Amino acid sequence: CGIVGYIGKREIKRQLIEGLRELEYRGYDSAGIAVMQNGKIQSFKAVGKLSNLDEKTKNFETEGPGVGIGHTRWATHGKPTELNAHPHMGEYSYVVHNGIIENYREIKAMLEADGVTFLSQTDTEVIVHLFEKEIERHSDLFSAFKATIDQLDGAYAVLLITQKAPDTIFFARKGSPMIIGRNRQGEVFFASSDAPLIGEAEEVAYMEDGTIGYATPDLIHSEPDALQFVSLSGDKLTAQK
Ligand code: GLU
Repeated sequence: CGIVGYIGKREIKRQLIEGLRELEYRGYDSAGIAVMQNGKIQSFKAVGKLSNLDEKTKNFETEGPGVGIGHTRWATHGKPTELNAHPHMGEYSYVVHNGIIENYREIKAMLEADGVTFLSQTDTEVIVHLFEKEIERHSDLFSAFKATIDQLDGAYAVLLITQKAPDTIFFARKGSPMIIGRNRQGEVFFASSDAPLIGEAEEVAYMEDGTIGYATPDLIHSEPDALQFVSLSGDKLTAQK
């Protein structure tokens, strides 16, 4: 029931897990992260407390630049198992999602008829397979992502990473909250509430329903409207330190 994302150079694993810790109050049954560095994605998941995810990622080093997504799950479709925990993977992409995809059965049936194998019982997993299918039909990744999100009914906050775009996080939001933050160091943060962004981001944008876009270290693009960034009272925070 919580979502985080990070683009930057500062210990990505720490950023994600500490961010999720700030969202623990929302409740969850399992948690997971996926980190992409040098064009390669690694993912870890654990049932139960974040300390279990800490334990699993103990020897996972994330020095240097990259991108990452993280999730705490409150199961709606499929039991709270490690397999059903997010991120969910396709062949080369990973997704995290808060909310419910109402029409996932139809999408799943269509994809299965097309030869896709599903690993989980979640509604979420359709997103990543649909995206990889749309890639075959579109000339660029953002068009494929938009075509994917267009087909989803329900509520969602979605973050997606793919090895085809090594420094990018794709995002979309409808009905479930998502906030994006950034700072002068070129770091970009995503979270379900502003709690994980305090002390990290200098300015934040509360995404309107229906926002869809992508972020890299150099650029944040969103549709249909540009994001309205506001200061996250950075002065006060500095004074408190
Ligand atoms: N519906 C998704 C699932 O059951 C996401 C639940 C959530 O918001 O954590 O996996």
